[in-house]
Amino acid sequence: MTTTKSIEVNIPKSIAQLIALQKLDTKIDDIEMMKGTLPQMVEELKKELNNLKAKKHNFEAEINGINEFIVTKKTLVKDGDAILKKYEKQSDNIKNNREFESINKQKSDKESEIKLTQREIVDAEVALQAKIRGLESVNKIIAEKESLLKHKEEELNGIIKENEKDIIGYTEAKSDCVKKIDKTILDSYTKIRNAYQNKLVVVNTNRESCGGCFCSIPPQKLIEIRKQKKIVSCEYCGRILVNEDDE
Ligand SMILES: [Zn+2]
Repeated sequence: MTTTKSIEVNIPKSIAQLIALQKLDTKIDDIEMMKGTLPQMVEELKKELNNLKAKKHNFEAEINGINEFIVTKKTLVKDGDAILKKYEKQSDNIKNNREFESINKQKSDKESEIKLTQREIVDAEVALQAKIRGLESVNKIIAEKESLLKHKEEELNGIIKENEKDIIGYTEAKSDCVKKIDKTILDSYTKIRNAYQNKLVVVNTNRESCGGCFCSIPPQKLIEIRKQKKIVSCEYCGRILVNEDDE
């Protein structure tokens, strides 16, 4: 892009509008810059907290599940003990050897079953303790991250509040300014603005070089810039070149 041709557009007026728009954008960008990485940090922390809370809920669900398992198994042991007592009573009234063996077999089966259940309870309790420790550590991290988030949000909101009036003013002025600018010119402005990290579109000619990329401007172009017969762009970076001293 070397020039933006337009028949009906009043070029000097357009250039003045572009300069005004760039100034407003720069003021808005400067305020945005003051926020630094705070907006991203706040977003990241919120995401992290969501994940941590999901983890916390998983731990809680697992702990509930293990607790229920333990209660069920404890009931089984209690019932088993009652059955054992019943067998012991029965063995007091044994009539023959075969009955004795049968009762003994049932007793020993029940005892093994109870032992196995008790082992399951012990294992479940070990697992339960691990889950409780996991939950405690997640809760600790959540508390730390929540406090950090609160701190960062306060910092960010402070900057937003401090500059609220300016931002509103600049944004309103910008929307007025934008309305007056020719659409083709505005589209080029937006395209260049999005292409560069420093968001500079309209730059001054500093000592015969582009104020954006610092490449030197040919004498012919310097004359064109002064004449304001057309909008002149830097042939290296495409930024719009102006000479504010001429205003
Ligand atoms: Zn340039």
